[in-house]
This record gives sequence, C-alpha cells and structure tokens, in this order.
Amino acid sequence: PPRIGVLALQGDVREHVRILDGLGAETVLVRRPEELARVQALVIPGGESSVMDKLSRTFGLREPIRHAIAAGLPVFGTCAGLILLADRITDGITGQQTFGGLDVTVRRNAFGSQVDSFETDLDVPAVGAEPVHAVFIRAPLVEDAGPDVETLAALADGTVVAVRSGNLMGTSFHPEMNGETRFHSLLLKMSR
Ligand code: GLN
Repeated sequence: PPRIGVLALQGDVREHVRILDGLGAETVLVRRPEELARVQALVIPGGESSVMDKLSRTFGLREPIRHAIAAGLPVFGTCAGLILLADRITDGITGQQTFGGLDVTVRRNAFGSQVDSFETDLDVPAVGAEPVHAVFIRAPLVEDAGPDVETLAALADGTVVAVRSGNLMGTSFHPEMNGETRFHSLLLKMSR
C-alpha cells in the first residue's frame, strides 16, 4: 500500500488518518524528518496554521518539508494546511511563515467572526459528479492565484475554495470531517 504521511504537529490529524486508513493506505504520522523521508505523499491537516508554522521550525521540519515540496512530493492541505502551502498570505500573525509552493495568495479567517463556520454543497468536477459537502471552519479563501493554478471549486459568488497546481492541492474546507474521501483518493493517485 502507498505510504501516506499526515503532518502530526497539531490539528485534526486523526480525521485524516481515518480517511486514509479507509482507502487502504499505510499512514505515517510525521513529526520528524526521518518520518517525512519515508512517505510517498503528505497531508497537512486543519488546525491553526501559525502554531503548525512555529512547531515545524521547533521540530526541524520546516526546511525538509520545503525541500520535499520542491522535489515534487504530492501534498494535500486542508484549511490551515492550505494556508501553509500558500506562497503568500494576508492577515497572518506577526512573523507567520508558510512552507509555500502553491502560487496563491490566501486570506486567513476570511469569512469573518459572524460566519465562523458554515456548510455548503460544492461542484468539484475533478473528484466526480456527486457534489462535495463542504465544511468551513474559520476558513481561509484564495484571493489570488497564478496562471498555473487550477481552480477545483468555488462558492456561488466565485470565491475560490479549492485549488491544485502540479504536486500540490489545497481546500479551504475539511473533507476529512464528514467522510468525504475523494480528495484523499486523488492524493493517492498523485503519489503514483
Ligand atoms: N484559522 C485557522 C488558521 O489560520 C484555520 C482554521 C482551520 O484549519 N479550520 O490556521
């Protein structure tokens, strides 16, 4: 089975592990560079991007992850994970950094305090004809994307909430929270 890592510094690690196990992957919790080196693809979970940023530096994972991304490792980021893949963020906390690699600008907590979380159905042709039930929690949005970035999903008002470019994919929402497996399946395909 493909060995898929889940960055396990903070966030909803277990939900991703459950989905990956269900798809028959061998799941590796990644907290150290040696664990990262063993995986054929990586998931960066939802959680708090500024905390994961700090912990990745504490654990000596920041540079290894940046190198792995540049070397073509398939990576799927959900919510905070999307933020960490973005080349540019607005509304980051002071000094907040990302791993980068995805040529997008992402705005954190973009839906404001009045709409902390919401759910909606989205068309995502790249994963199949059935709509995706998308759960947004203090979600970021993609403000701007470079020419090589493919939009996978947008809200009715055109706001981009899922993207893919080369080996990287990110969603503003949390497919792992309601048993949506098709993005993780796509990651498994990307890892071959
Ligand atoms: N607001 C969080 C952040 O900035 C992301 C929220 C989430 O992952 N559910 O990292």
